[in-house]
Amino acid sequence: MSVKTGFDLKLFRNIGIAAHIDAGKTTTTERILYYTGRIHKIGEVHEGAATMDWMEQERERGITITAAVTTANWKHTKTGVEHRINIIDTPGHVDFTIEVERSMRVLDGAIAVFDASQGVEPQSETVWRQADKYRVPRIAYANKMDKTGADLWLVVNSMKERLGAKPVVMQLPIGREDTFRGIVDVLRQKAYTYGNDLGTDIREVEIPDELKEQAAEYYEKLVEVAADYDENIMMKFLEGEKPTEEELVRAIRKGTIAMEIFPVFLGSALKNKGVQLLLDGVVDYLPSPLDIPPIRGTNDAGEVVERPADPSGPLAALAFKIMADPYVGRLTFIRVYSGTLRSGSYVQNTTKGKKERVARLLQMHANHREEVEELRAGELGAVVGLKETITGDTLVGEGDEPIVLESIEVPEPVIDLAIEPKTKADQDKLGIALARLGEEDPTFRVSTDPETGQTIISGMGELHLEIIVDRLKREFKVDANVGKPQVAYRETISRPVDVEGKFVRQSGGRGQYGHVKIKAEPLGRGAGFEFVNAIVGGVIPKEYIPAVQ
Ligand code: GDP
Repeated sequence: MSVKTGFDLKLFRNIGIAAHIDAGKTTTTERILYYTGRIHKIGEVHEGAATMDWMEQERERGITITAAVTTANWKHTKTGVEHRINIIDTPGHVDFTIEVERSMRVLDGAIAVFDASQGVEPQSETVWRQADKYRVPRIAYANKMDKTGADLWLVVNSMKERLGAKPVVMQLPIGREDTFRGIVDVLRQKAYTYGNDLGTDIREVEIPDELKEQAAEYYEKLVEVAADYDENIMMKFLEGEKPTEEELVRAIRKGTIAMEIFPVFLGSALKNKGVQLLLDGVVDYLPSPLDIPPIRGTNDAGEVVERPADPSGPLAALAFKIMADPYVGRLTFIRVYSGTLRSGSYVQNTTKGKKERVARLLQMHANHREEVEELRAGELGAVVGLKETITGDTLVGEGDEPIVLESIEVPEPVIDLAIEPKTKADQDKLGIALARLGEEDPTFRVSTDPETGQTIISGMGELHLEIIVDRLKREFKVDANVGKPQVAYRETISRPVDVEGKFVRQSGGRGQYGHVKIKAEPLGRGAGFEFVNAIVGGVIPKEYIPAVQ
C-alpha cells in the first residue's frame, strides 16, 4: 500500500534519545513506542522481530549500535493535535561515537536521558558535547525516579556543574524512590498521579499540600526564565499578572531551540510514569524542521548554497546509514532537507558523481514498515535501490544544481586486530564479508600488515571489533583465528599532560575511555617523547609519562 504522509512540517519532530548506557534509553524508547500506539504490548521491542535494535547480538548485549529511524505519531494530551515523531536511534556505547555523530547530524532535537540516581555520568557528558557541536536543542529526562537514591536535584545540579547547562525545572516528583507516584507540572500548576501500573490511567489531581510551596517557587523561576524570551511575560511579571500557558510554552520553546535553556522532565520509564508528559514536552519544546537553520552545501563553483526546508524546492538529501536488510536488500537511510524525493525517480549522488534510481521508499514503524510514495523536506526514511550511495553522500534531483552537503566527520580507528581465515574458502568469504561491512560502517577499515601479510581490521574500540568478529562468524559464516587487539591510534597533544589531574583532550573526536596511545610531547621539547597507553578523560598515571615534567 502506498500512502502519503499528510503532516504539516511544523508538526514534525525529528528527535534522538541520547544517553549513557544503562540510563534507560531502550526502556524509554520502548515506552514511547507503546504510548504512541505503534507497539501493542510492553516488552515487544525486546522480544519481537521488528525492533529498534536490529541485530540479534545487539539484543543479546543489550546495546543499540545501529542508527535507524522509527516513525511514530503523538497526539498532545493538552492540545489534542497529532504530531509525527521520527526517532533516530543513537547508540549509547562509546565505541560507536561515530554512530552518535552521524545521527546527531540528521536530527533536530534530542531527549537526554539521565539516571536520576547517578546524575550526569561521563558518557552522558560525551553525548552532550556532541549535541552541542551539532547544535541540537535538548530536553532532559531524569529517569529511574523510582530507584533508591534517585534525586531530581542530583540531575539538575550535575547538569549545571558538569555540563555548564542551564536547566529549567518543568516538573517535580510526588513521592520519592519506591513511593514515587506522580508528577507536578510546574508550568501548568497541575499534578498527575497514576491509576494503574501501565501508566494509561493518568489522573489530574490537586498539587499535594507538601509540594504547594515548592511548586509555586519553581513556577516563579520558570516565569522568570520565560520572561527572558518574551517581553509581554516580563511586563505581566512586573505587574504581578499571570502569563498564559501558551505564552510560557512559546517562550520556553524559544529559549530551548536557541540552546540557552534545557527543560528538565522526570519519571520512571520502567514503572510507566512520565513518558506521555515527556512526549508532550517533545512537541512543546523541541524544534520542527522549520525551526532549524537551512542546510548548507557547496556548488561546483565552490560557493556555499543554502537549502531551506521547503518541499517544493530543489531536492537535497543526506544518506546517514546503510543497512543490509534480509527482505529488500540494501537500505539507505536518508534525511530529506529540501525538496521532495519520489519513489521511482532518478537522483544524482553528487558526492560520487553518479546517477542512481530510487526504486522504493520505506518508513519504519516499531512493528511494521510502510511503503511511501514520497519523502518531503524534513522527513526521514529508507531508500531501496541505491547501489553506490554510502553514509555521508548527498543526493540531489536529476536536474538540480549539483551541490554537496557538508559531510559527516569520520574519525580514525583506534584499535587493530589481526584476522586469519582457517581455510581458502574462509579466505574468499572473508573478503566479501569485509567489503560489505566496510560499506555499512565507515569507521571500520581493512588493511594488510606489510610485514606478516595478515589481514588487519581496525575499529573504534574493542567492543566494535568484537561485534564485527561476531558478525563474520554468524552472518557470513567465516571461520577465522583472531589476534589480540592492538592500539592503533596516535594523537599528538599540544600541551603536556596534566599528570596530577585530568588529561585534557586537545583535538580529535574520540570519546572518553577509548584506549588511546598518546604521544606525550612536552612543550619546549621536540624529540624524546614517549608513547603511553591512557584512558582519554581519565587520569594518566605519572609513571607512564616519563617525558612529561
Ligand atoms: P539503555 O542501556 O540506556 O538502553 O538502558 P535500558 O533501557 O536497557 O535500561 C537499563 C537498566 O535499567 C535495565 O535493567 C532497565 O530495566 C532499568 N531501568 C530502565 N528504566 C528504569 C526506571 O525507570 N527505573 C528503574 N528502577 N530501572 C530502570
